[in-house]
Amino acid sequence: MSLIFEKSKDGRALSLLPSLDVPKVELDDQVIRKKELKLPQLAEIDIGRHYTELVKKVHGVNCGFYPLGSCTMKYNPRVNEEMAALPGFTNIHPLQEEDTVQGCMKVLDLANQYLCEITGMDNMTFQPAAGAHGEFTGLLLIKAYHKSRKDLKRTKIIVPDSAHGTNPASATMAGFEVVSVKSGDDGCVDIERLKEVVGEDTAGLMLTNPNTVGLFEKDILKITEIIHNAGGLVYYDGANLNAIMGHVRPGDMGFDIVHLNLHKTFSTPHGGGGPGSGPVGCKSFLEQFLPGYLITRKNDKLTFKKPESSIGMIKSFYGNFLVVVRALTYILMLGSEGIKKAALNAVLNANYMKKMLSDEYDMAFDGLCMHEFVMSLEKLHKEHGVSAMDVAKALLDNGMHPPTMYFPLIVHEALMIEPTETESKETLDQAVDIFKQIYQTALTDAQKLHDAPVNTPVGRLDELGAARNPKLRYIFE
Ligand SMILES: *Cc1c(COP(=O)(O)O)cnc(C)c1O
Repeated sequence: MSLIFEKSKDGRALSLLPSLDVPKVELDDQVIRKKELKLPQLAEIDIGRHYTELVKKVHGVNCGFYPLGSCTMKYNPRVNEEMAALPGFTNIHPLQEEDTVQGCMKVLDLANQYLCEITGMDNMTFQPAAGAHGEFTGLLLIKAYHKSRKDLKRTKIIVPDSAHGTNPASATMAGFEVVSVKSGDDGCVDIERLKEVVGEDTAGLMLTNPNTVGLFEKDILKITEIIHNAGGLVYYDGANLNAIMGHVRPGDMGFDIVHLNLHKTFSTPHGGGGPGSGPVGCKSFLEQFLPGYLITRKNDKLTFKKPESSIGMIKSFYGNFLVVVRALTYILMLGSEGIKKAALNAVLNANYMKKMLSDEYDMAFDGLCMHEFVMSLEKLHKEHGVSAMDVAKALLDNGMHPPTMYFPLIVHEALMIEPTETESKETLDQAVDIFKQIYQTALTDAQKLHDAPVNTPVGRLDELGAARNPKLRYIFE
């Protein structure tokens, strides 16, 4: 398929600009472009066809199953988009007088209340634009807290080795030293090892629960207590709240700070990288450090305020506001019963698929899982030379997006499946059939899987080349 620039024909552009109705102003030579701006020139019909052709070449939740573990590629209800497109939400300016945007402020205020209720936190900032950004914000809160107590020896953040890669990265960016704790054989935090690394230099612990292998930490209360007793704070990576929302709350497990990924759990489309929202909630003793602006009620009006010892701005103004509109719509549409049910179905769907696949595929961990599970293809790889990558590519040939691959790092030849609650039993059964067929092919015709995919717009790509020599922009002749 050619690029839109290659389809361009000089003079083909259709400009329907209205005639000038303001005085003409000559611009200073300095600010005038010296070279003509190269914009593609195409007729409207050709633009339409170009983008329709592109749409046909990609895979999204509207095309088929998308069980990308840890990413929660659930269906995002259309009503969210309708609400986020309302002119009262889209045609506003961040510097508008508070009096004129009370409705929008109420959206932030309500979302704050509901999400605090769901997480067991006391207040929340909506500034962070992504999960990792939320982690960074949360870590700065931890830093500010210790600093406010003149407790400057706390330089270390403990992170289990099963953590999402963003956790150690965020901790490093926030200026902490990362201490990794090896997980136990059951995939959970090893309490004895945790006790060994905790000390006077512990600033805090970052934890995902259910963790990244899809298991609920059985000793969670003990874990948070160990950190608190040592004087540290406990950070909850709540990027995937799908399994627990409406059932248990990080605040009740002893966590002090939580980030959420509204673009995962609370349904904003997020394939392709944004926009996202990673609000950070905290217990009241940390409220004073939150980034500005927070919403408070003054007389009968909502007003913005900057907390007294704020760590400062993390993003401009109020974060990605329209993602918050979508999340609030989602919460209001589901209600408290619906939120609970969504979590139950997410867990049910994952366990159903796990069970259905366990005759053929080796599961990395036994027993019930939460909203996702991890398979290890190590044996298939050793005995038949078929890797997790081969299976993933073969799934593409069957109209299915592959699961998350080679993550978490503690499982070899990992495939991590998160079906989400929005998929029907029929879709799950179909996916199970596809997995089983691929398994049989692995035993009889491994080469076919090495050659996959053959039905997609492009075959195997040079992934190393793409990473080493990325071509990020179009070079004109
Ligand atoms: C997705 C995810 C993140 C990072 O979120 P981004 O919005 O991609 O920055 C962090 N932790 C976990 C467990 C995740 O699944």
